Amino acid sequence: MSVNASGWKPEMNAANESAAPATFTGNKALMLEEGLIFEIGAYDRTGVDLPEPPRVASRLGGLERNRPIGLPGLAEPEVVRHYTRLSRQNYGIDLGFFPLGSCTMKHNPRLNEKMARLPGFADIHPLQPVETVQGALGLIDLVGEWLIRLTGMTAVAMSPKAGAHGELCGLLAIRAALTARGDARKVILVPESAHGTNPATAAFCGYAVENIPATTEGRVDLDALKRRLGPDVAGVMITNPNTCGLFERDMIAISEAVHAAGGLVYCDGANFNAIVGRVRPGDLGIDAMHINLHKTFSTPHGGGGPGSGPVVLSEALAPYAPLPFIEKDGDRFRLVEEETAGEHHAGSFGRMVAFHGQMGMFVRAAAYMLSHGADGLRQVAEDAVLNANYILRSLEGVLEAPFAHSGPCMHEALFSDDNLAEGFTTLDIAKGLIDEGFHPMTMYFPLVVHGAMLIEPTETESKAALDQFIGALKSVAERAQAGDAALKAAPMLAPRRRLDETAAARKPVLVYRDPAPLTQAAE
Ligand SMILES: *Cc1c(COP(=O)(O)O)cnc(C)c1O
Repeated sequence: MSVNASGWKPEMNAANESAAPATFTGNKALMLEEGLIFEIGAYDRTGVDLPEPPRVASRLGGLERNRPIGLPGLAEPEVVRHYTRLSRQNYGIDLGFFPLGSCTMKHNPRLNEKMARLPGFADIHPLQPVETVQGALGLIDLVGEWLIRLTGMTAVAMSPKAGAHGELCGLLAIRAALTARGDARKVILVPESAHGTNPATAAFCGYAVENIPATTEGRVDLDALKRRLGPDVAGVMITNPNTCGLFERDMIAISEAVHAAGGLVYCDGANFNAIVGRVRPGDLGIDAMHINLHKTFSTPHGGGGPGSGPVVLSEALAPYAPLPFIEKDGDRFRLVEEETAGEHHAGSFGRMVAFHGQMGMFVRAAAYMLSHGADGLRQVAEDAVLNANYILRSLEGVLEAPFAHSGPCMHEALFSDDNLAEGFTTLDIAKGLIDEGFHPMTMYFPLVVHGAMLIEPTETESKAALDQFIGALKSVAERAQAGDAALKAAPMLAPRRRLDETAAARKPVLVYRDPAPLTQAAE
């Protein structure tokens, strides 16, 4: 069987749909419909049998509840089935390919999970005396040491809990450094192709955000950047590799120009997985960069777990790193929790989180680093880039690839909606992919490309998996180019059809309103 052909033909869809019976239950074969827990439970039911409490005089002075609290009661098997059914409607990296560009959804090796569950890591408490958690502190230090070596930077702040949180950490360090030299600069420059969190972080820090245009190649316009630099510019935030999936080749020239104008360079390092082991950001003149452990180093994210966004810092910013941090004292580790006048961290901008960061993620990242080794991490980057280029070159004749002329891509391939039939959009392609059993790619981002489709395969997909995805996307794209009206109705095979996603995002219904008032149950 050719893996390139998905086996699915447009005419089969029409036949399927008309032949598909509307079932009595609403279930689709063994894919079961599931109501809200409020709809399937009842106020007068409970999963446990408790004896009627003895009648005692209340001592609550009339404040006792006199109505049911409104929690739906269910028996244990009903609860188990409810959540198991919902989990089957969820799509995850353990089910199939997750091509979300920018998000780096890669396999989470089970070895990492096993290590994170070791009682010595899993059962400790952040308030334990440091003498009792030397191993855990040693592990945080080890991950930090690897990050410093891999990036060629001077220091690392381990506590930020996500990429965006790391951006905040980096900008606070930049602000502290500028304040220390009595320089109250007000502007952060952000290129057009930046991730949305970059301008949001700069604005959150109180900076005015100004845009720097991209070249037709999809890279930062160096001349435009140089023209805008001046004594009011605190720094730049540049994503490298950028959100068009391209390496910013002028990065050294950018850093030099920014430094010459008295500013500092923040690099969004969420795409570090494309260059880990091959390029050290410290060599490119970068002053601060966050690293998403949940992207480059495979720790779970999204519904799978919390993120972790350590920030590596240059010599210029190291003195302003947040607290707490770990220091090695002979063969012991100590936790520095406060600024101490006269010490190297006296300028710390303060604390970002209550404790030390995401311990479970540090354990997973350490397991990933140690099991791959330095050479294995380099191969991660090479294979991620190879896979993305395979997708780019396999599909550039099918979909419009606006930057295919700019040379090989890095870890993600970018397409636009330029050659679809009138009235067909990126959204139709995404919905068609759902019927094919694929989670859609990232859509409408980056903003510099019309109807953008950003696809990141990561190194963990096999050639067979990529071929199947390419076949499916090709088939859906051809339907969108041929103006197949059935595609406008996709997804046909999902538990829910096309939703009003704007209303769902803008006006979410977060509170269940019981059609039968609570009082009825009380009667
Ligand atoms: C994912 C991502 C971020 C934000 O990281 P979070 O961990 O989701 O906060 C920032 N920039 C880029 C380029 C990203 O891909």
